[in-house]
Amino acid sequence: MIGFIEIAYFLASLSFVIGLKMLSHPDSARKGNLLAAIGMGLAIILTIAGEKIHNLGWIFAALFVGTLLGAVSARKVKMTAMPQMVSLFNGMGGACAAVISLVEFAHHPELQVSLANSTTAIILLGMLIGSVSFSGSMIAFGKLQGYKAIEKPVTFPFQKMFNTILLIITFGIGVHILFNLSNPHQASGLFYTMFALSLLYGILFVLPIGGADMPVVISLLNSFTGVAAACAGFLYSNMVMLIGGILVGSAGTILTVVMCNAMNRSLVSVIFGTFGGGGTAAAGGGASGDQIVREISLTDAAILMSYAKKVVIVPGYGLAVAQAQHTCHELDNLLEEKGVDVKYAIHPVAGRMPGHMNVLLAEADVPYDKLFDMEDINSDFASTDVVLVIGANDVVNPAARKDPASPIYGMPILDVDNAANIIVLKRGMNAGYAGIENELFFDPKTKMLFGDAKSSLLKLVAEVKQN
Ligand code: NDP
Repeated sequence: MIGFIEIAYFLASLSFVIGLKMLSHPDSARKGNLLAAIGMGLAIILTIAGEKIHNLGWIFAALFVGTLLGAVSARKVKMTAMPQMVSLFNGMGGACAAVISLVEFAHHPELQVSLANSTTAIILLGMLIGSVSFSGSMIAFGKLQGYKAIEKPVTFPFQKMFNTILLIITFGIGVHILFNLSNPHQASGLFYTMFALSLLYGILFVLPIGGADMPVVISLLNSFTGVAAACAGFLYSNMVMLIGGILVGSAGTILTVVMCNAMNRSLVSVIFGTFGGGGTAAAGGGASGDQIVREISLTDAAILMSYAKKVVIVPGYGLAVAQAQHTCHELDNLLEEKGVDVKYAIHPVAGRMPGHMNVLLAEADVPYDKLFDMEDINSDFASTDVVLVIGANDVVNPAARKDPASPIYGMPILDVDNAANIIVLKRGMNAGYAGIENELFFDPKTKMLFGDAKSSLLKLVAEVKQN
């Protein structure tokens, strides 16, 4: 008979599915997040209440500390540090799944002597994937946080071959434990060796990634955490954990595929680490030609936009740094009042986390129908009078199309160089995340308006009001 707990688990699972669906639109995303969080809270409380658990003191202490840390850090985190925080939280999920496997392996000595069973397989899989996700996410966190030693791709000779061999050995140990061992002593030594190698693989897998390839790895690690959590759910025959893990795993996989398409990478090359290791500041994408940077005055920029028919705004990471989204929306409203057709062009990897620009612009109440994905707007640039690039760099770098030596070569970009005029708002001539120069900034059609994006936009708003 279906009991109260199964019904509650079903409702909690339903809240995850509906919450996830609601996350797909900025208007409903907040409520979707809240709904799924309530479902998760329900699942946790019911699991504690429904099982014969003895160490309640430890559980509630951990819940209290975790909730406090999560709530305070989520409230305090700057919008620009959000990607690091997402990586950190993702890593914690992976660590939980790995710890569950470690604990269950130690708790079930009988598994170690009759090893060829599905429970052992799930324990091994959960440990491997959870550990890779944990250590990989910690490295991703360090890279996004800008830790000098690992910020740029860390490479060494024969790295890809080494990584592949390491992965094969790690898997091989798992298979050996599963099918060949009957001695608990042997199994436990190899199990912990496999654990250490999995952690090492996670580190070595993410270290060489850099430049513009980080989003793909972040979403892949996200899907790993989901799969590892699903393994834990399977282990405990806990439906809500299984469904939650599957949802995170499949959503993360879909996101990885979307990111792969955005970066023009193959999923197989991502999984086997045969991509990344992109160049640094010196690599490719250098400016060619006359190298003249042309500046524009505030007045000229305001006039150019006020009398344009069609303006496309391209937001990038600098918009998030400057927290200029509200001022940007004020400018787009002013231009529309003057009869200008204003659209936003959103590149899938703009900013520092998937959907970063959508979140920022939704926060400023920019109507969603003004936002256009890259593939929908690229053909519009040829008929656009002015493109306003705000703190974007890599996502508009023509080197991705033209320069096979560039670390971003092959990544589809926003074709802003097809527009009649391009105005770029940034503080100086610094490179973007990929660390390469951008010849767009030397294009005769491009005019630079130097300064912090928010202060430049505030001044532009004042100028447009006067025109
Ligand atoms: P970029 O990182 O390429 O460039 C941002 C530019 O903004 C810089 O050149 C900087 O130049 C400028 N900038 C910084 N602060 C300000 C400010 N206060 N005011 C004005 N300008 C400012 O950004 P994009 O959005 O074009 O590209 C995103 C990059 O990040 C891609 O390479 C992507 O692969 C990578 N990435 C994306 C992730 C994702 O999930 N979306 C995750 C991890 C990495 P200056 O200092 O001269 O002002």
